[in-house]
Amino acid sequence: MNNEIIVGIDLGTTNSEIAVVQDGKVIVIEEAGSKIIPSFVGMGENDEILVGEPAKNQYALYPERTIKSVKRHMGEETKLELAAQTYTPQEVSAMILKRLKAIAESYLNEPVNKAVITVPAYFSDAQRQATREAGEIAGLEVVRMINEPTAAALSYETNHKTHKHILVYDLGGGTFDVSVVSLEEDVVEVLASHGNNKLGGDDFDQKIIEYIIDHIKPQSSKAMARINRAAEAAKRALSNQPFVMIEEEYLEEKNGTPIHLSLELSRDDYESMIAEYIDETLEAVHIALNGANLLASDIDEILLVGGSTRTPLVSQRLEAEFKQQPRLEIDPDLCVATGAAIQAAIIAGDKIATSAVLVDITPYTYGTSAIGELNGELYPYMYVPIIQKNSSLPIMKTDVFHTMRDNQEAVDIKIYQGEDSDALNNIQIGEFMVEGLNEVPQGNPILLKLELDLNGILDVSAVEKNTGLAKSIVIDNAISRFEADEMAAAQKRIDAIFGGDDEDHHTTVQTKALIEKAERMLDQASAEDSEDIINLIEAIKDKTDLKESMDQLSDILYYLES
Ligand code: AMP
Repeated sequence: MNNEIIVGIDLGTTNSEIAVVQDGKVIVIEEAGSKIIPSFVGMGENDEILVGEPAKNQYALYPERTIKSVKRHMGEETKLELAAQTYTPQEVSAMILKRLKAIAESYLNEPVNKAVITVPAYFSDAQRQATREAGEIAGLEVVRMINEPTAAALSYETNHKTHKHILVYDLGGGTFDVSVVSLEEDVVEVLASHGNNKLGGDDFDQKIIEYIIDHIKPQSSKAMARINRAAEAAKRALSNQPFVMIEEEYLEEKNGTPIHLSLELSRDDYESMIAEYIDETLEAVHIALNGANLLASDIDEILLVGGSTRTPLVSQRLEAEFKQQPRLEIDPDLCVATGAAIQAAIIAGDKIATSAVLVDITPYTYGTSAIGELNGELYPYMYVPIIQKNSSLPIMKTDVFHTMRDNQEAVDIKIYQGEDSDALNNIQIGEFMVEGLNEVPQGNPILLKLELDLNGILDVSAVEKNTGLAKSIVIDNAISRFEADEMAAAQKRIDAIFGGDDEDHHTTVQTKALIEKAERMLDQASAEDSEDIINLIEAIKDKTDLKESMDQLSDILYYLES
């Protein structure tokens, strides 16, 4: 009998992939010959939603109509603009997931309703929650979320007989993670993890962009968009060659003279530009090693994950540090999706070439605050850690607290995420009251239980020990979550777009919004840009080349904003 299909999804900052185990083997599913789907969402010429390559292709020309790197906004309470509409990060991610789901369905010729989705080890509770919501909006039940480095380890080591310590170094477009993973028989355990979810190849691009605009100051936003593309292409080229010519003909015109970009960049110079970032990643490597109580010499293998690890400096620095070459045999872009598919197959009960059981860890400490001594003084917000950073998941920890006053009827419990001994320096992620306590002298014991599941989602409950009076919460973050009715509305909205018949995207609404925005931003624009803006507003009002004028105006506003 066939088990229900569960796919594995690497929902990346720059690119995403979807994979599935078939006949015991992992297949990363292709679309139009490519296994890598750019994590771009755009509004096309006819107000249709574009996802992947077509959206990425229009980014340089229509940045205002395209969203990239939505993953950087997951868990934030923000709206992202796409043409004249706004969407939550969850909705934008859901559009990518819908596309991936459709790719898998057309390959498998079957509906796909369940997925394992990977997230950076460093993702917070709110970011994981937002990822789960994106899945739900897209019509996918997220049966498990696993950390990306863990997935990578699973993809490499399907047959691990001996005990090994593996370092997984994951440098993508927008995030960096390093994890120390222990492999033994059929247990994969992440011992420690560290990273920076705002560091990646995009930052390397930015260094090259700065280098280019030091030499040639672009006047227009179109030129700027072309420079962005050229910078990324130059970076990739430098992974395979020591020099690159960055060339863009007719970048723009200045006083009637065409300006061409032609600039050489050497790998050496590029490497000095990005050295500070690589240093930062190596510091994180050492923090992770310390967290795992291991030395560099204890590491048996180094695995590279993420497109940016193709940068030769990454391997060189790791090799110098660890006296061994990182393994390169699995495509660094595909090993996370591969591991996700393996995990999915394990859950579905499919036969695969491994029986690995996954043990994951929490990258954060969770706890509460209480009156206690801090720096020799009595302080009401002393941090009391309950679940320690780097603990294996799932984990359940209970601690006991006592009421301070006689006949105290209620206690106010605050939950924090962080490492500082002053709770106020950590992130408060939830708060609740336990009311109706017994009228007894001070010292009434209250048990506080924190339960962190495999997806990194936290359940908190407090019980008055002597009566069993209980109160519990699922963390209601300062960073807002979707309520049930909002979820339904978001699903409807995204479905309508994918049904392609959403009448709300009427040009008139867009036109009005765009003109209003342009008028608001006029005073920030340079003389040249404001002349363009005024001309374009006129053209749009007159409906002369409406479409093109709107696109051009959108481009200019986008760059004024950024
Ligand atoms: P990911 O987030 O793992 O998909 O990684 C995407 C990042 O890898 C982007 O910043 C790409 O520009 C970068 N990248 C892809 N190929 C290369 C390459 N050959 N050399 C350097 N960086 C690359």
